[in-house]
Amino acid sequence: MKNVVIIGAGHGAGQLVMSLRQKKFQGHITLVGEEDWHPYQRPPLSKKFLLGELSAERLFLKPPAFYDDPSLSPVLNSRVMVIDRDARQIATDDGKSYDYDALVIATGSRPRQLDVPGADLDGIHYLRGIDDVNAIRASMSNSEHVSIIGAGYIGLEVAAVARQLDKKVTVVEMENRVMSRVVSPELSAYYESVHSEHGVQILPSTSITAFAGETRIDGVILDNGETLTTDMVVIGIGIVPNTELAEAAGLIADNGIVVDDHCRTSDASIYAIGDCTWHPNSQLGKSLRLESVHNAVEQAKTAASNLCGKDTIYSQVPWFWSDQYDLKLQIAGVSQGYDEVVLRGDMTTHSFSCLYLRDGKLIAVDAVNAPRDYIQGRLLIAGNVRIDPARLADPNIPLKDLV
Ligand code: FAD
Repeated sequence: MKNVVIIGAGHGAGQLVMSLRQKKFQGHITLVGEEDWHPYQRPPLSKKFLLGELSAERLFLKPPAFYDDPSLSPVLNSRVMVIDRDARQIATDDGKSYDYDALVIATGSRPRQLDVPGADLDGIHYLRGIDDVNAIRASMSNSEHVSIIGAGYIGLEVAAVARQLDKKVTVVEMENRVMSRVVSPELSAYYESVHSEHGVQILPSTSITAFAGETRIDGVILDNGETLTTDMVVIGIGIVPNTELAEAAGLIADNGIVVDDHCRTSDASIYAIGDCTWHPNSQLGKSLRLESVHNAVEQAKTAASNLCGKDTIYSQVPWFWSDQYDLKLQIAGVSQGYDEVVLRGDMTTHSFSCLYLRDGKLIAVDAVNAPRDYIQGRLLIAGNVRIDPARLADPNIPLKDLV
């Protein structure tokens, strides 16, 4: 293998470069990214970086000097426009082209756009990259009232930061509870009460019909006819995988670029990793798309290994985390399709877990300030054995004793 070209210079791509280096990959690596930054971590963007407690330098996976290597060509600020599979070549928006022997698509995802009148007013933000946070911080410093559309992880993390900066915060959510896509009603209710105690106003079962303002936003018009006075808006209503480039090249995609358990697409010389993939997971017994650092990192390691001639499959219990105020939520597994939820511990102590079972087997854990439950829960999920719910619920029995 001589030339590996990576499209996208985000988290997965950065890990791929590191893994190829660790595995002593002998060929040349070209990393093409449309952002003006070397690969960086996004999780702090809606947490400590937004709060101003972390510098931009601390976001980078590796310092710029790491890329100073004759076997590595980082091409930043450059968008890939075409994959020519016959010529085994990609072309960028500045008219350049790069040949590949193997290509890795690591294009990630982009925020889903809210298409309502007034959506292009100043002061309306999405959050995906460093530049977005810089704009949000500038907006927030001049704002008293911050409105957040969408009560998923990003919306709620931004709400927590905005409260810590003493802003008046309203969160508008279309569904009847927060984080409805990923956690149980019990955990949603807990997070709603925490945010209320911190002074956040949450409006569930509410949609936006328009944004009001001349050039800059000054109101959010709700479907009940009310208008929220606001100085700025952050929209976090989900993401869309960046699959268009792959689809235009004729690769199979369906809610993500379809890859096998080796991270290979329908073209054997093209891999895909991270948020943009629809992939099989034998631990879960199904295919899915994941939006998490763990997935991007593990798929990158798998692809790197296969690019180095090994035969490595991706099979992982997924995990994720979210920081809101002084609460660390750690999620292992995928709770979708559970038929029983067990509460372990006492919610009023702010250290507890929700354990999700299907057919008597543990499929997911949501641990709030309970890292041990999270770590041991991952092992239990991987064990795929029937567990007595009464024993799971007893915080005096360590989960590891049930493994
Ligand atoms: P990305 O890191 O998004 O990288 C993709 C890169 O490809 C981008 O730089 C993009 O601009 C570039 N690109 C796209 N198309 C092209 C093209 N045609 N040409 C060139 N470049 C292109 N995950 C967690 O596990 N825990 C968290 O707490 C958490 N918090 C998050 C907070 C925020 C605010 C955000 C935005 C994400 C968070 N995530 C979190 C998700 C996590 O960051 C992503 O799952 C991860 O970054 C995915 O990595 P990736 O390499 O697939 O995509």
